[in-house]
Amino acid sequence: MAEILTGKEVAQSIKEDLKKEIENLKEKGITPKLGIIRVGARPDDLYYEGGAKKTADSVGLEYEVFEYPEDIKQEEFEEAVNNVNERKDINGILMFSPLPKHLDEKKIRELISPEKDVDCLTMGSAAKVFVGDETGFPPCTPKAVMEMFSYYGIELKGKKAVVLGRSLVVGKPVAMLMLGEHATVTICHSRTQNLSEVCKDADILVAAVGRAKMVKANFVKPGMTVIDVGINEDPDNPGKMCGDVDYDEVEPIVEKITPVPRGVGSVTTSVLAKHTVKACKMQNGLE
Ligand code: NAP
Repeated sequence: MAEILTGKEVAQSIKEDLKKEIENLKEKGITPKLGIIRVGARPDDLYYEGGAKKTADSVGLEYEVFEYPEDIKQEEFEEAVNNVNERKDINGILMFSPLPKHLDEKKIRELISPEKDVDCLTMGSAAKVFVGDETGFPPCTPKAVMEMFSYYGIELKGKKAVVLGRSLVVGKPVAMLMLGEHATVTICHSRTQNLSEVCKDADILVAAVGRAKMVKANFVKPGMTVIDVGINEDPDNPGKMCGDVDYDEVEPIVEKITPVPRGVGSVTTSVLAKHTVKACKMQNGLE
């Protein structure tokens, strides 16, 4: 039986610290605030937004949602983003992506100031993650993975880590963050040969492929820690969620594993709140 690394306790611990920090800031007359920019009303975005609001409410973080119609024009949206970005009372910005195809997303992302870019939308923030500059904010999901390691006391130094997936949102940044903690990191992708063997060689396997239950028993070995970042519809239980790891096959073999749901995904909105508070402190010369 593997140790099940659930996200709830990790999120709770982050939220307890944040609550105190926000109270202290409010005593100084500073109120941290998150701006959420959403175009349209995609169910995934609304789901995440709901989670972000609930987390914010639980720690006393203020927020404001800026909602725009699906057919908003480029110029109009640029102006709207600039307006949110310039608001002095907004310390951090979350903008849902992908944006509708007619919008130039690359250009719009870059309108966000680096000091407010709490979910790593800009190239500048991504660069900071790659050079290990802690004034930048990594995307919330990779940071949530790091929070899991930290909370559960999983040492990365000297360990062989394999990251399955090389997206800019999860795979690459999580690999860089793990490298920063002195793991020896291999990044796999769709052209990797002998994938299951490469994965099986790891002490720590992070799966971020977006393929339901792709990681099977032959990808893992006893003693391994498996972190499942995937969020997929379960092909065996329509309407239910599953990860990139075939949990039923893998859990009996490995030492530690995160479930889906109730794993990494439960930690991301707490990281978002944490980043916003850090942004607020930096903007007020307190960090
Ligand atoms: P993505 O942009 O689609 O990237 C998927 C990566 O997996 C790519 O690098 C791709 O390789 C690789 N890949 C796909 N099929 C593969 C295969 N058969 N063998 C080996 N590699 C393969 O996805 P993403 O945005 O990184 O998201 C990954 C998963 O994490 C998804 O399930 C997503 O829903 C989930 N997610 C979770 C959270 C959270 O809060 N928990 C947040 C964001 C994303 P190539 O580069 O070669 O195409």
